[in-house]
Amino acid sequence: MSTVFKDAITFKKAFIEQVEKTYAIDFKDSSSYQQYVALGTLLKEHIADDWKETKKIESDKRQVYYFSMEFLMGRMITNNLMNAGVYDVVKQAFNELNLDINEIEHKETDAGLGNGGLGRLAACFMDSVAALALPVHGNCIRYRYGFFKQKIENGYQVEYPDRWLKDIHVWEVRRDEEAIDVPFYGHIELSVIDGKLNVFHRNAEYVKAVPYDVPIVGYNNQVINTLRLWSAEPSDLYQNQGGTFDYHKKLRQISEMLYPNDDTDEGKILRLKQQYLFSSAGVNAVLKKHKKQFGTLDNLAEKAVFHINDTHPTLIIPELMRILVDEEGMEWDHAWDITRRCVAYTNHTILAEALEKWPIRLFQPLLPRIYTITEEINRRFEIELKQRFGDYAKEVESMQILKNGMVHMANLAIVGSFSVNGVAQLHTDILKEIEMRDFADYYPNKFNNKTNGITHRRWVLQSNPEIVEILKDTVGNEWIKDTSKLEGLAKFANDPVIQKRYEAMKLARKQALTDKIFKEQGVKLNPHAIFDIQVKRLHEYKRQLMNALHIMHLYNELKSNPEIRKQFYPQNFIFGAKAAPTYWFAKKVIKLINTIAEKVNNDPETNELLKVVFVEDYNVTYAETIMPAADLSEQISTASKEASGTGNMKFMMNGAITIGTLDGANVEIAELVGEDNIIIFGLTAKEVTDLYQKGSYQPYEMYEKDPRIKRVLDQLTNGFFTNVPRNEFEEIRRNLLDRDVYLVLKDFDSYVAAQAKANKLYQNRPTWLKMSIMNTAKSGFFSTDRTMEEYNKDIWHLTKIK
Ligand SMILES: *Cc1c(COP(=O)(O)O)cnc(C)c1O
Repeated sequence: MSTVFKDAITFKKAFIEQVEKTYAIDFKDSSSYQQYVALGTLLKEHIADDWKETKKIESDKRQVYYFSMEFLMGRMITNNLMNAGVYDVVKQAFNELNLDINEIEHKETDAGLGNGGLGRLAACFMDSVAALALPVHGNCIRYRYGFFKQKIENGYQVEYPDRWLKDIHVWEVRRDEEAIDVPFYGHIELSVIDGKLNVFHRNAEYVKAVPYDVPIVGYNNQVINTLRLWSAEPSDLYQNQGGTFDYHKKLRQISEMLYPNDDTDEGKILRLKQQYLFSSAGVNAVLKKHKKQFGTLDNLAEKAVFHINDTHPTLIIPELMRILVDEEGMEWDHAWDITRRCVAYTNHTILAEALEKWPIRLFQPLLPRIYTITEEINRRFEIELKQRFGDYAKEVESMQILKNGMVHMANLAIVGSFSVNGVAQLHTDILKEIEMRDFADYYPNKFNNKTNGITHRRWVLQSNPEIVEILKDTVGNEWIKDTSKLEGLAKFANDPVIQKRYEAMKLARKQALTDKIFKEQGVKLNPHAIFDIQVKRLHEYKRQLMNALHIMHLYNELKSNPEIRKQFYPQNFIFGAKAAPTYWFAKKVIKLINTIAEKVNNDPETNELLKVVFVEDYNVTYAETIMPAADLSEQISTASKEASGTGNMKFMMNGAITIGTLDGANVEIAELVGEDNIIIFGLTAKEVTDLYQKGSYQPYEMYEKDPRIKRVLDQLTNGFFTNVPRNEFEEIRRNLLDRDVYLVLKDFDSYVAAQAKANKLYQNRPTWLKMSIMNTAKSGFFSTDRTMEEYNKDIWHLTKIK
């Protein structure tokens, strides 16, 4: 470890030198961006020895390679400074230099290599495994453009490219010498020479996958893990057949951009190329190293686990088979045994339409050898199933990997792995009992639950300085390493001194968000009002629309009666969400929210009571200001639809009260805090499933019998909104009246009641503050430190390197 960060004086000197020698300018003329680059560079050099050392220690140990198409990392500078234990030195030095550390931290671009919850989960996992000294490394794609930047123009979402790599990415190290050539297209020739199978991939279009390694700094333990990002480049193996230009254009696209779509598949071939590129390159790199070290792959399953985050990296399974059988000459059964003992799979969805499937007609030509191997896996599995259930049994059909012209990735992932986990108890139960019932019966020991979490180091320690002070004075500082210690806060829940401090903490965080929103969007919020926040991807099942309709209803009520106005406590409704660019309905909901905002914010009769704001470009960096500022956390998905949710946990840890349905991890939040400290409403998962099954739901009846619903739905199209054409929201109205798949109208009444309860409760300060404190106190379970310990105990079985 370098001594640069030893104290403020030493650091100042090194820092000034670094700026001057990098940019050949006087320090006084340097920009905060240049200062940021210098700081990042010094820190990277500072941790280099520990990175090297970590690799050395773990080289003969069992390790996990966590494959995820998404890592929503956000900015890394603050996290790295804090985890490396040098934040205070830097802060002091900057104070002395009259520099604002916050401003310099904000010069780092937000690494948006993901869409939402799934990608942020992977990022939180990385922080926790490093803190726990577990040898776990990430694999992903080095997308040149991350998740799009969102602007709101005339109330509509407009997408702009996210050029996060435009300058330099200070943390990464390019490892050209470890590049892997990955073949696409071409055809396969099989021959048997001396009794051995020989496989030749002819006329393949090779693409070179080049790894860029990013250090993941463990909290205060000198452990540095690696996140490996693969970039697509031209391969030397490519034989120019006259199509060079086209070849370059197509290959550049592979690591060009992240699909801004978290459920359905678009640009299918390109997406499949992305999946195979990083799955194949990642696995080949590990196996090469393993072979070099141990001289054999026979012990691979003792040393390596390939953990796949959702089905996107499932091609790891046939790729492992390909290497073991084609390249190593192993017998199929031996190779299959190794493969299945190496792979573990996390399922993230219950929406059947979101389970990944690939048309064989696209899959086969693009990946000819991987396809024949998949076919063979399927053929053998089918024989096994038929022996067990009979030729025409429904189990055979439901569990097949290839059927109806499609490759079913989840089925391949289940068959080819030793562990399948869901991400919250309710989600796992639904998987086992409904969605994947045949598999769960067939492999009773394979399915398990691992409830998601969040890293409290980013979401509390880094984002909420006031709560950190309160915790220090109540439960000490050990919670940073062990969040079960937060429980100790419970005994202060009714303590008036701590309540006062909690109130001041919230006000400070609400003020910070108020300032940011005013600065960026010119909307003025009252920091003393209730901060009611719904931030997450825009999706019908998450029901931002129900929230919006409730605001319309509330506005109607407040307008109709001065008595109601008197009893109502001012409430700010804050939304943040990106909609997939082709998800037209979701984009309409954004327009609706902005149209409501325009109307209610400009009505002098209500605008002291009711404010609505849709924040632009919700991302990880924004979330760091939003999460601590909430009084009310909106978690209102249709029960059974949200696998877990993790936004709910970030809010809870920062003392927000959840208003939510019994869905995903809300169920576990409710169990932990008890019904007095959460506001639950709506149908349960069982009631929703039964209602769907009966098929008897008539949304039009809700409209006819509930005048509040009738009024609000009519207002969508009757000229109530004066600045949009009358048919602007026709589609929303029709959708609700005709189908209402996500039961917005069905749950409306109980949501209105829950909202009214929240507004009233908030006015009882001691009760509300007690609830708020209890939420933090009970949130320790939702640290990814706990989640990762469970993965390790039940799935990975690693020994800690420290
Ligand atoms: C945590 C997080 C999410 C996930 O939020 P949910 O409410 O669980 O859907 C999405 N995006 C960002 C930027 C996050 O930080």
